[in-house]
Amino acid sequence: MKRLLVPALLCSPVAMAAADLDMANKIRHEGFHQSQVMHTLEHLTDNIGPRLTASPQMVKANHWTLKQLQDWGLKNGQLHPFEFGRGWSSESASITLAGPRQQSLHGIPVAWTPGTNGVVSGDVMMFDVNTVSDLAQYAGKLKGKILLMGEDLKIEPPKTVIFERLSAKTLGDLKDYEPGARASYQSFMTNALRDSRMQSYKFNQALSAFLEKEQVAGVIYRSSRQGGLVRVFGKSHKQGETFPVPAIIIEQEDYSLLTRMLDRKEQPKLDLDIKARFHDDDMKSYNTIAEIPGTDKNAEVVMVGGHLDSWHASDGAVDNGAGVAVAMEAVRILSKLNVKPKRTIRIALWSGEEQGLYGSRAYVDEFFATRPEPKDPAEKALPRYLWSSPGWPIQPKAAYDKLSVYFNMDNGSGRFRGIYTEGNIAAKPMLSDWFGPYSDLSTGTISPLSTGGTDHESFDDVGLPGFQFIQDPLDYSTRLHHTHIDSIDHVIEDDLKQASVIMAGFLYEAAMADKKLPRKPMPTAPSEVQQQRLDLETEKERRTRELEGKKALETKVVY
Ligand SMILES: [Zn+2]
Repeated sequence: MKRLLVPALLCSPVAMAAADLDMANKIRHEGFHQSQVMHTLEHLTDNIGPRLTASPQMVKANHWTLKQLQDWGLKNGQLHPFEFGRGWSSESASITLAGPRQQSLHGIPVAWTPGTNGVVSGDVMMFDVNTVSDLAQYAGKLKGKILLMGEDLKIEPPKTVIFERLSAKTLGDLKDYEPGARASYQSFMTNALRDSRMQSYKFNQALSAFLEKEQVAGVIYRSSRQGGLVRVFGKSHKQGETFPVPAIIIEQEDYSLLTRMLDRKEQPKLDLDIKARFHDDDMKSYNTIAEIPGTDKNAEVVMVGGHLDSWHASDGAVDNGAGVAVAMEAVRILSKLNVKPKRTIRIALWSGEEQGLYGSRAYVDEFFATRPEPKDPAEKALPRYLWSSPGWPIQPKAAYDKLSVYFNMDNGSGRFRGIYTEGNIAAKPMLSDWFGPYSDLSTGTISPLSTGGTDHESFDDVGLPGFQFIQDPLDYSTRLHHTHIDSIDHVIEDDLKQASVIMAGFLYEAAMADKKLPRKPMPTAPSEVQQQRLDLETEKERRTRELEGKKALETKVVY
């Protein structure tokens, strides 16, 4: 049955009062007929290119976005600094099969690993270790070798649909509340989780020391996507923790070829030539910030953003150039329309997202709410994800009560089909109303569910309303996420225009509404009983995982 989409505003007197319809028309006109969103994205991707956190290109992107926002009339522009660590960049990398026959292979260096300092040649060897005790068997055998990091897995025929838009059925399912779901902001640490993370951390430290001592020439990782896609990641960016040997990720098909040669005792030889550099002149990285100042409620703030940093494999068009371009386009539209919002509209283009939400966490910590750090200096020196507690109680700062909402876009470049409320059901009526003037463009599904893995979490974790829109997945997860083909070719212009128009509409309505968006209660430490139950649950999960034999060579924090 064909369903008629009746705009909510036509039938609801509440909505009639909520949405500024003249403004909605102006936003649509500017966003659809005077759009600059692809122009912005093209500059970020084709001109600037990959934007690895703290790399020279990321700094270039910071300066360009700041200037662009200022040219559009935004005020109070600044680059907000936070502590990060070493910068890294790679100019070129080649990996060649030099024997028993010649062939160019396709690989991209692991971020924050050293270059080869000229061509390095070596015999390939399988190196399959999962625990510290596995290392001993390789002592004295690895000098000058190039190691395959882990056994080969069979490449299965693809089972998933590559490109997808959400069906009415899927959107309908997203409306269901799951009473058992853990609240999104309950980022509790459990003993079992911490134990397994500590184990991986210690293993990685032992592995680094071992590879260096054994004078390994280089290591090779298998891409986590098949079909020629090289999907990248990084090693530690902290000073004093740098991975000691050149490391490169290659296509699954190339990796399989090398393992088959090893199985047949046809000793493969490789030439590696990786040019990579560390940048240690500035241990900080920067978020780009700018504002459309508010009028009578100017101390109150509505925020929008995406992450400006990307991985180094490609231009970071979908992850997350698209989110940045949409956030920038939304404020450009509003600035062009010369809006005079009651609340200040602030854009934040984060850095360090891919390594663990560094930029947005630092910003929230500095301006909205802070959390106590571990008292034990040894624990404090560990990465944050290894701390025994996220830090209780949350200590709100003066601006905590001034933020109405933060809207983030980082689920690829697909159009907006609705919004996840992160369990903040009370926000539903306002959010529904704001979709009203755009109901021909979006189903406007309001989901009670949570979605994780990106910068809205930094807000949600301390009880501030931070949302992600529900987006059509397109081919984000199947092909583009952190791979070497994340280029502007895979971005659909109409989807970005739609997202920009809705984002601008939401920002305007949030900035003009009589009230701020409702909030969830401020998160508090788990009770003793709750903590015990969580510990039991995670311990059970851990044992099940062990039984299933799902062992990962390394635990990487990837977003
Ligand atoms: Zn992302």
